[in-house]
This record gives sequence, structure tokens and C-alpha cells, in this order.
Amino acid sequence: MRTGAAYVAALRDGRAVYLDGERVKDVTSHPAFAEPIRCIARTYDHAKAAEADPALTYADPATGTRHGNMWLVPRTAEDLGARRRAHRFWAEPSYGLMGRTPDHVASVLTAFSAWRQLFDRGGARFGDHVMRFYERARDEDLYLAYAIVPPQVDRSTPAHRHAEPFLHPGVVRETDAGIVVRGAQAIATSATMADWLFLSYITPLAPGDDAYAISLVVPMNAEGLRLYPRRPYATAATSVFDYPLSARFDEVDTTVVFNDVFVPWEQVFIDRNVELVNAQFHDSPSHTMANFQSLVRFGVKLEFMAGLALRLAEVQGADGDPSVQATLGGDIAALCAAFDALAKAAERFPLLAGGVARPHPQYVYAGMGLQRRLIVDLMRTLRELAGGAFQTVPSSEAAFTSEETRADTERYYKSAAAPARERLKLVRLIWDFVGTEFGGRQLQYEMFYSAAQPVVNRRMFKSYDWQAAKALVARCLHEY
Ligand SMILES: Cc1cc2nc3c(=O)[nH]c(=O)nc-3n(C[C@H](O)[C@H](O)[C@H](O)COP(=O)(O)OP(=O)(O)OC[C@H]3O[C@@H](n4cnc5c(N)ncnc54)[C@H](O)[C@@H]3O)c2cc1C
Repeated sequence: MRTGAAYVAALRDGRAVYLDGERVKDVTSHPAFAEPIRCIARTYDHAKAAEADPALTYADPATGTRHGNMWLVPRTAEDLGARRRAHRFWAEPSYGLMGRTPDHVASVLTAFSAWRQLFDRGGARFGDHVMRFYERARDEDLYLAYAIVPPQVDRSTPAHRHAEPFLHPGVVRETDAGIVVRGAQAIATSATMADWLFLSYITPLAPGDDAYAISLVVPMNAEGLRLYPRRPYATAATSVFDYPLSARFDEVDTTVVFNDVFVPWEQVFIDRNVELVNAQFHDSPSHTMANFQSLVRFGVKLEFMAGLALRLAEVQGADGDPSVQATLGGDIAALCAAFDALAKAAERFPLLAGGVARPHPQYVYAGMGLQRRLIVDLMRTLRELAGGAFQTVPSSEAAFTSEETRADTERYYKSAAAPARERLKLVRLIWDFVGTEFGGRQLQYEMFYSAAQPVVNRRMFKSYDWQAAKALVARCLHEY
């Protein structure tokens, strides 16, 4: 397992990141990326320090080498418990606000390795590529981002029918040594701070889309690969006090452009095969394993929101009020506990198939379907508890340092339960969660990190045990 310093050093690889039209020389020292990178580096250090801890790592049966649980192929519910601990370990440093920590795409890759038979269908060498890259990523503890949804060019027409070919990524040429890829994929969150990129499609490809039907990995500094981040929030944050989340936990969503990137065969998992690309996430356990990470991560975020709500009520001296207690219980605690139960059910009652324990799809998709509602509900409840608190704040932390304003700031912004600085620190934190650009992106993330709501709902439709429900109705109709 690697150290934080080794992770940071690896990011100085000449990757082509363009911000405001200019190339970023070094992401590790650029104010847009440095803080989130530090957060990930610290977590790598903590993971390294816990290398011998059986709660977080496992020993490779063949070599005895210890690896983080994010690389463990789950065979039992207990293995899923081991994976859950790893996901929590990676989610807690950002309070669940960073979704694409290294354990997310590690889950996809680990699931692929457990299901190599799917990739073998394109030729046994492709299954070998998956296995070798999985082993490398595990051994080197690599951080992968992924780009698996194409830009909204024209959703009514398959990629091969677009007026301009290769706006969506596809193979423009083949050589003896590999393929050349051209096109853009919409979002790869965290790409600027990851080591490698996994490129494929989770949106269904149509017959005729063969040139686009690829699944592959490239290092983030591959020749021709360009990373175009959206506006980062850390650079807009005036101080950590005023924007504690924007300044530290922005995982920066990034559009990735392949300008004729050469990809050697050993990095190709699927080569121009529509059927396999369409099957890879759902035939293999990868979709449920990756989204199990999302559930565990979201559970941490919910707990954090519950803590924020309670602390806000305490600071306002409202926590003893029966109606506030009812809000905290009914609109926050009940939802957090219900979601926690879903994540636990996905782990404790796995779907066993092909020697792999999948987090049960019924509970994974129920959790995903609820996620976008819960985030809205909890954000709204936090706003309700806050009232005008977010607006009753000085314009910045400088109000505490100015000789002219300090006395008024300390006198009039305090509450009976907290001095002004403590109270404003909490209020600014909650506002950064629910009201700033960072907060708005958090909402969008929970709504769309996987797919639009109807897509998630259809997965739920397919995963639910309708047989038991139908049987009850049939029995009822027959008994009179
Ligand atoms: C913050 C954030 C982070 C993300 N991170 C990643 C990442 O790391 N990697 C990655 O690959 N992707 C990432 N995504 C992309 C994400 O997977 C997609 O946004 C998601 O799958 C939805 O696809 P879309 O954006 O193309 O929206 P669309 O599928 O176009 O949906 C937009 C809206 O249009 C509706 N709609 C779509 N098609 C039709 C139709 N035919 N008729 C009627 N209505 C329709 C949908 O219901 C929805 O309401 C991220 C997205 C967000 C917001």
C-alpha cells in the first residue's frame, strides 16, 4: 500500500489539465486542486498506517501481501462487511462529500476481475488484460476515475448516426500495438487527482455503434488526453472559515477529451463489441459493488447532516423544543436510520452468483432511488431549522479581526449557547453544505451521480421480488 507522498508525487506526471484556457503546470500545488489532493493523500497515509489491521486490509492468499479491502473480491456477506469498512474509511475524511474516492472505481475493477469470463467472450487475451490491470492497480494502490457517460450531443440518435462522428469517444484507427481513440466523455469526477482513467459507456449502445463499444484504461498523462475541469470551488472560496467545504472537499468534475489517444492492447478490456459493453456493468457485479460504495458514502453524509441539524438546534437553544425535536426525529433521524438499514440489508443479504457475493440489487437500487429524495428533504430541513441564520452573518471572517467591527461582531452574532465565532463557524459550514455553489453541486451529484431518476427506478423495477407480492394477491383472489 502506498503513502500519501507517493500518491502526490505520481500526480506530477505532465497531465494536460486546462483551466480558464491555460495549462495547469502542477495540480498538486494549484489552489483549485491542492486541498482535495491533500485530503486524499492524508487518507492514503492513514490507510498505510492501518496496513496490518484485519478490519481494513486482507492478505493475498498466494503471496501474503496485504491490500486494502477495496480490492477484495467479496465471496460472503462478511467480505461485503470488510468492503463496507473500507468505504466508510474513505468517506469519513470528507464527511461523505467526496463521492469518487479511490474505492469507487476500485470496486468496478475488482468486480471485473471476479467476472473475467465476460471479457473472455471478446477473446481470452481481453480477460487477461482485465486481470493484469486489476492486479497492478491493487498492488500499486492506484486511484482511478471513470468516464462512462457521453455528452448530451443528441440523445435521440445513436453515436454512429451523429452528423459529426467521434464527438462521443470511439476507435478511429487500429494498429498492431493497439487502438487510437477520439472523442469526449461528459464527466470524470476527480480525474485531475486520480492516476488512471477508465473509459467506457454505461448508457446503452445501439446496433451499429461498434466503433464506440470500448472499455479501456489510460494513464492520466496519456498523450492526447486533455482534462477540462468545470469551475473549481476552492479558488472562489475567500477563506476556509467562510467556505470550509468548498475550500477543502471539491472533487472537481472534469470533461475528458481524447485527441487521438493511442491505447496499447494490454489496456483494452473490450474492443468494439456492443453486446459486451452493454453487459459489462450489470452481468458482472460491478454496478452493485460500485454503488454499494455510494450507499455507504451517502450514509456518512446523512450522519453528518443529522449532526449539523442537532448542533444548529443546540446553538439556537431550540433542541429542547418539542416541535424542533419532532422535526429532528421525523424529518432527519428516521430517514437516516431507514437508509442505514438499506445499506446493511444490501450487505447482510447478498445475491450469491458465480462465487461472488453481490450487495443485493433490491436494496442497492432502493437506496439509490431514495438518495435524491433524501438529500433534498434533509437540505430543506436544515434550511428550515436555520431560518435567517445564513443571512445574519458578517460578510467575512475579517469582521473578527477588524478593530472597528470586532466588538459588535462578538456581541451581536453570538447566541446564548455559543460565542459568535463558534456560532458563525457552524452557520457558515451548513450554508456551504446547502446553499453555495458547492452545496448546489452536492445536490446535483446525489441526483445524477449514477443516472437520471427513471433509469434508477427501472433498475429497481427489475430487482424487486415481485413474485412474492404477486403470490399474495393471487392467494387473496382465490380464497373467496
Ligand atoms: C456531479 C456529477 C458528477 C458526475 N460524475 C461522473 C463520473 O465521475 N463519471 C461519469 O461517467 N459520469 C459522471 N456523472 C454523469 C452522470 O453519470 C450522468 O449525469 C447521469 O448518468 C445522467 O446522464 P446525463 O447527464 O446525460 O443526463 P440525461 O440522461 O440526458 O438526463 C437528463 C434529463 O433528461 C431526461 N431524459 C433523458 N433522456 C430522455 C429522453 N429520451 N426523453 C425524455 N427525457 C429524457 C432524464 O430523465 C433527465 O431528467 C456525473 C454527474 C454529475 C451531475
